[in-house]
Amino acid sequence: MTSGHFGFAAVVKSSAPKVPLWALMLSTYLLDFVFIFLAAFGIESFAPLDPVHPAYGQVLIHADYSHSLIGAALIALIAGFVARWAWGKKAGLVIGGIVFSHWLLDLIVHRPDLPFLPGNIGHLPLLGFGLWQLPIVSAVLELALALVGAYLYYRSATKAPAEVLDTRHIKALVAAGVTGVLLVLLLAADFFNLPLSAAILLMLMLIMLAGWLDSRLAWSASTS
Ligand SMILES: [Zn+2]
Repeated sequence: MTSGHFGFAAVVKSSAPKVPLWALMLSTYLLDFVFIFLAAFGIESFAPLDPVHPAYGQVLIHADYSHSLIGAALIALIAGFVARWAWGKKAGLVIGGIVFSHWLLDLIVHRPDLPFLPGNIGHLPLLGFGLWQLPIVSAVLELALALVGAYLYYRSATKAPAEVLDTRHIKALVAAGVTGVLLVLLLAADFFNLPLSAAILLMLMLIMLAGWLDSRLAWSASTS
């Protein structure tokens, strides 16, 4: 769901232009970064359902802390406070909301492997609607999120006074285009099961490149 999460960041950027794109992208993926960190210490883990033929979405994830409902809400709250401190009240709400949106998107695609409470205390029923069991449908959903994100991002970046519109237009098109292409690449990597390390590298590159392009667009001149 990597590409879908990032696409969502671009959607939000169009309504919260003051918050840097890299922060939005990092936020959409924060729960998975926490997951990767915990997995490195063996606290959480994931494994392909069929180790011989790994495929897109065909994974069972044990993320009882980072992806529990309450755990995700707590991480969102902390990220929201940090963003509020850095960029103001609205940014805090936006970032907190985006961090938590990751859990909602995961809820749609994951098989039932998301617990209510951290550590799956009380062994309550696990959550997840399992859209990954229809890989084409969930891949199309991700692609749609990525493309809609790139488009809305472009549209809001071109909201500018007419006299500067020409150059902004081109810059915005480049930024949105590059972001869109990278999102599709990321989805392809996910679909064709790139190794996790390569996927993380691709992701960090995407965040840095999109963030840099975004900062070059000088949103402060925007009318929105
Ligand atoms: Zn996740």
